[in-house]
Amino acid sequence: MPFDRAKLAADTEAFCQELRPHEELCYAERRFNAELVPLAKKYDLLGINVREEYGGRGADNVAYFAALARIGREGTGVRTFFSGHLSIGAYPIQAWGSDALKRKYLPAAARGDLVLAFGLTEPDAGSNPLEMTTTFARAADGYVLNGVKYLISNGGIADAVVVFGYPHDAPAGDPRRRVSAFVVDTKADGFAAESFAPNAKMGMPTSNTAMFEMENVLVPAENLLGEPGDGFRVAMGALVSGRLSVAAGCLGVIEDCLAEVVEYGKARSQHGKEIARHQLVQDHIAHIEMDRVASEALVVRAAELKDRAEANPGDADLARRVDLLAAQAKFFATNAAWDAADRAVQVFGGRGWSTLYRPGRHLTDVRVCRIYEGTDEILKLKIAAAVLGKGWEAFK
Ligand SMILES: Cc1cc2nc3c(=O)[nH]c(=O)nc-3n(C[C@H](O)[C@H](O)[C@H](O)COP(=O)(O)OP(=O)(O)OC[C@H]3O[C@@H](n4cnc5c(N)ncnc54)[C@H](O)[C@@H]3O)c2cc1C
Repeated sequence: MPFDRAKLAADTEAFCQELRPHEELCYAERRFNAELVPLAKKYDLLGINVREEYGGRGADNVAYFAALARIGREGTGVRTFFSGHLSIGAYPIQAWGSDALKRKYLPAAARGDLVLAFGLTEPDAGSNPLEMTTTFARAADGYVLNGVKYLISNGGIADAVVVFGYPHDAPAGDPRRRVSAFVVDTKADGFAAESFAPNAKMGMPTSNTAMFEMENVLVPAENLLGEPGDGFRVAMGALVSGRLSVAAGCLGVIEDCLAEVVEYGKARSQHGKEIARHQLVQDHIAHIEMDRVASEALVVRAAELKDRAEANPGDADLARRVDLLAAQAKFFATNAAWDAADRAVQVFGGRGWSTLYRPGRHLTDVRVCRIYEGTDEILKLKIAAAVLGKGWEAFK
């Protein structure tokens, strides 16, 4: 059956409407939203970007990121779950896994019987993941992994995680020291996760963020992604989809902030008229609208380019352009969403400061988007390097 664009949009809308009261209640009580996965399962949203032959919807990137933008309106925590499960969880398995590995994980993930996550960051390796210390060793029946992964979205609720490590016996300078990527079952012996308490987080109290440790975790040989040593390429490829998912979610945040300020600005009166009639309030509205228009243009353009690149897998120039545009879209939309949420808080005045209202929740939740999947600084260096040309990179 061909992919049905209108049905995905309708299912996403119905999901968001049904989820909203649960999300608001969990946010107020600062606890994990346990209704998210069952509702996403009900509306068949857990395999949006997974190909139909592996049990998913088979959405193209334009439709997939449009769905994530709609989900983003419900909050960055909700959208982050989908980024972890689909963009950086399912996507690298689909792009790099063997057919058997895809059949092992993707249909169950798409059905909602299995949650996915992506474990690259470590306590001492964030902006530079190549400083990771996780290792793997060959064993008779697969690989044995040891290491700690830190700040992992869905890490405490996932059934399987895409994990990265170096060969245990290849020290710095050894040509064999190349990162490999594996799919690790979280129920395996030696795997232990610990979730951050919702109150220990600045925002997104309803979503799960965790660290996990692997102590002699045995991973079957077929759970390797790509060839040994392909891990860095797997990670960077996943981050293109991940960065676009963050940009799309931030577009949703901006759209929601705009809707909120329009409604509130027309309802609230001070100095004898609705506040939306005051010129300085209209200045905020104009800025949020421009945040929206520009972010949407970048997200849609990047999604279209990614569709073209996936249809032409041998075209290295297209792949390079998508990689750059994803970084640009992510950098712009995350900062635009931060600006839009800040302005929405301002328009709401004292109520804006409260997380009982949507602008205050967006502001605290969206801050992380300028940190994960490439910090502002790392993305700016990537963008500047592309402008300056080879030999001018601030870091290799
Ligand atoms: C809520 C949340 C969810 C996350 N989810 C995931 C996940 O699912 N999977 C995952 O693998 N990771 C995840 N992360 C981790 C995230 O990707 C990292 O926090 C991020 O990459 C930054 O790494 P760091 O925290 O170690 O900061 P650091 O790398 O220590 O950076 C600290 C500061 O130094 C700056 N800096 C570092 N190097 C340079 C440089 N060369 N030039 C200029 N400035 C520099 C950074 O930009 C930053 O401002 C998550 C983080 C959070 C907070």
